[in-house]
Amino acid sequence: MRFIDLAAQQKRIKDKIDENIQKVLRHGNYIMGPEVKELEERLAEYVGAKHAISCASGTDALLMALMSYGVGPGDAIFTTPFTFIATAEAIALLGATPVFVDIDPKTFNIDPVKLDLAIQAVKTNDPSLHPLPLAPNVSLFTPCGIIAVDLFGLLADYESIEAIAQRNGLFVIEDAAQSFGAECKSEKSCSFGNISCTSFFPAKPLGCYGDGGMCFTDDERLAQAMISIRIHGKGNDQYDNIRIGINGRLDTIQAAVLLAKFDIFPEEIDIRQRVAQNYSILLSKCPDLVCPFPSINQINQTNETNHKSAWAQYSLLTKSGDQRNAIINELKDAGIPTAIYYPKPLHLQTAFASLAYKEGDFPVSENCAKRIFSLPMHPYLKSVDQEIICNTIMKRV
Ligand SMILES: *Cc1c(COP(=O)(O)O)cnc(C)c1O
Repeated sequence: MRFIDLAAQQKRIKDKIDENIQKVLRHGNYIMGPEVKELEERLAEYVGAKHAISCASGTDALLMALMSYGVGPGDAIFTTPFTFIATAEAIALLGATPVFVDIDPKTFNIDPVKLDLAIQAVKTNDPSLHPLPLAPNVSLFTPCGIIAVDLFGLLADYESIEAIAQRNGLFVIEDAAQSFGAECKSEKSCSFGNISCTSFFPAKPLGCYGDGGMCFTDDERLAQAMISIRIHGKGNDQYDNIRIGINGRLDTIQAAVLLAKFDIFPEEIDIRQRVAQNYSILLSKCPDLVCPFPSINQINQTNETNHKSAWAQYSLLTKSGDQRNAIINELKDAGIPTAIYYPKPLHLQTAFASLAYKEGDFPVSENCAKRIFSLPMHPYLKSVDQEIICNTIMKRV
C-alpha cells in the first residue's frame, strides 16, 4: 500500500503527459515556454485570481510574496508553529522575524483570537500578553504581515484573519501549499489574502514531477513586482535589473506535466471528499480518535460546514503519544505506511533557537505534535484498503 499513489494517477493520464512533454521537446522553449503561460492562465481562472505568477517551488512562492512587500530586518511576520519549515524559513531568509501564534486544535490552523493578542503584544512590547521571540532590535520591531497556512488542505479562518489584518494595517499571505482545490463558501483556495502561494511538489494535491509553485494576487503592483523578482529583479528586459531578485522560474516541462494533471484535478478533489468521508465513517466507532474537520454528518452524509478540504492529508489525533506509537507500529506490521506531520513545532526547532522560544509557549501545537498521525490519502485509495487500515487501527483503540 502506498501513502500517496502517484503511479495509479499516472496510469490514467500517461498518454497525455507523454504528449505534453514531447511537445516541449519539439519546440525547445525549456525556460518560460508557452506551457508556463497557459498553466498560469488556466489556474488563475480556476481559483478566481487576476494574476498567477508561476515559480520554482512553494518556498520560492512564499519568498517572492514577502519580497514583493519589501519585507526585511525589523519586520514581524505572524504565522503558525505547526506547519512545514518553509513557511517560517522564508521569513527568516529575508532577515525578518517569525512571530509564532498557536493553532486551533479543531482545524490545526492559526487561532485568530491568539493572533490578535500576538499583534498587540508586539505593538506594546509586552510578552505577558503573548509569548514573543527574542527580536534583534526591539525599537525597530514592527508588525508587518501574516502568513496563514491552510494545513492539510483545510482553509484557515480568513474572515477573522483578514478583519484583524485590516484593523492593524497588515498584509495577509495565504500559504496554500497544501490546499490547492479547497473551498470555503464556494471561494477557492488561492483567492484569500493579498497574495496566495501554492506548491506543486509531487505529494501536494496538484503535484508535478519535480519542484514547482505559484503565486496568485488581484493586485497589479504586487503581480508586477513578483514577475520581476522571479527573474533576477528584471526591469523592461532581462539585462535591465531594477531590484534584487531570485532565479525562481517554473520549468516548461513541469508546466506541461501540470497541464495534463489539471485536466483531471477537479474530479480528483471530488474523489478525495469521498475517501475522507469513508475514513471518518469507518473510524467513528473509535471514541479514542479525533477525526479531522470537516467531519461528515453520517445520517445524511452531507458536509454541514462551509468547508471543502483538499485533503492533502487525513490526520487524526490519538488519546496519547503512546497510543499513537502503538497504532503506527500495528499499521507498519500490516504493511500500511503512515506519517507524522509535524513531530516538532517550529518554535522548538534548532533552526529557530535564536528566537529563544521555549517549551510551553504554544501548548496546543506541542500537544498535537505528540498525538497526531496521518493515514494513506489519495484519490485512488480503494475502500477495501481503507477497511483494512481501519480494522488494523481498531486493534489498538
Ligand atoms: C510543501 C510546503 C511548502 C513548500 O513547498 P515546496 O514546493 O516544497 O518548496 C510551504 N508550506 C507548506 C505548508 C508546505 O506544506
